[in-house]
Amino acid sequence: MSFQRIAIIGLGLLGGSLGLAIAQRLPNASTAGFDADPATRERAAQLGLVGTVCGTAAEAVAGADLVILCVPVGAMSNAALTFAEALPTNAVVSDVGSSKASVAKALAQALPHHTIIPAHPVAGTEQSGPDAGFGELFAHRWCILTPPANAPESAVEKLSAFWEALGANIEIMDADHHDLVLAVTSHIPHLIAYTIVGTASDLEEVTRGEVIKYSAGGFRDFTRIAASDPTMWRDVFLNNREAVLEMLGRFTEDLTDMQRAIRRGDADKLFDLFTRTRDIRRGIVEQGQDDARPDFGRKDH
Ligand code: NAP
Repeated sequence: MSFQRIAIIGLGLLGGSLGLAIAQRLPNASTAGFDADPATRERAAQLGLVGTVCGTAAEAVAGADLVILCVPVGAMSNAALTFAEALPTNAVVSDVGSSKASVAKALAQALPHHTIIPAHPVAGTEQSGPDAGFGELFAHRWCILTPPANAPESAVEKLSAFWEALGANIEIMDADHHDLVLAVTSHIPHLIAYTIVGTASDLEEVTRGEVIKYSAGGFRDFTRIAASDPTMWRDVFLNNREAVLEMLGRFTEDLTDMQRAIRRGDADKLFDLFTRTRDIRRGIVEQGQDDARPDFGRKDH
C-alpha cells in the first residue's frame, strides 16, 4: 500500500515541488500543506501547490499517513513541535533537509513515539519560495534515505517506493556518512562560491563593474551558487559543522599544495590535477547528472 494522505510542512521550493510532483505522478494521493509565512500560504493556494492549504500545521497533519518537513534544517524541531499533538499514531515522518544527523536527532526528540525516516532529495536550484517549485525537480535525481537502526523495514520500503514514484533514484545510507559525502559534494562548493563572490566584491583594485563585465571567465558560475537562499545555507553550515570543518581542513591543505605548485612553477602537478578533474566532469555528464553542452547549455554568452 502506498501513502494516501500526505502532509507537507513548508511550501517553498522543496515543499511546493513535492506537492506538484505528487499531483502529477501520484494522482490518487491527497495533499495538505502548511507554511509559517501567511504570504507563502496564499501564494501556494493560488499556484495549487497542494490540494488543501491549511491555517495551522496541526490541521495539515490531521489524518496524514506521511508527513514531510520541507523547512530549513534549523527550523525542523520547532516545526515538528507545532504538530506533534495532532500527528496520527501511525503516520511516518520524513523531511528533505540537506544535512541529516542533526535533523534525525531533532525530529526524534520532538516526536519520540513516531517512525521517523529522514531523507534528502539531492535536487534543487538556487531559487527559493513557492514560485520556484516545479513537479519534475526530483526526476532522475538521487534521494538519500537515512533510516535509524530501529526504523521498520516496511516503512523504509514504502518511503523508497514513494520517492521512486516521483522519479527519484534511491540510496540508503547512515546519516553521518551522508553528512560527510554532502559536505564535499555540496556544502564546501557552496562555501567556496560564497567566499569567492564575497572576495571579488571586496576588491579595491578591480572594480565591481569589471567583475560583472568579465564574469563569463568562470566567476558567473560561482555567482549562481552564491545566490542560494541565505537562511537555508546558514542552517546547513551550523548543522553540519563537524563534517564541513573536516572536509574544509582537507580542502585547505590541497589548496596550499596548489599554491606551492604555482609558486614553484610545477607544471606537471597542475596539469595532472586538471586532467583528473576533467574525468570527474565526464563521469557526471555520463551519468546524466548535468548537461554536456558548452556553458551548461546556456543560450546567452
Ligand atoms: P524555501 O524555499 O525557503 O522554503 C522553506 C519554507 O519553510 C519557507 O516558506 C519558510 O517560511 C517555511 N518555514 C520555516 N519555518 C517553518 C515552520 N516552523 N513551519 C512551517 N514552515 C516554515 O526553502 P527550500 O529550498 O524549499 O528548502 C527547504 C528544505 O529543503 C531545507 O531543509 C533545505 O536544506 C532542503 N533542500 C533544499 C534544496 C535546495 O536546493 N534549495 C535541495 C535539497 C534539500 P519563512 O520564509 O517565513 O521562513
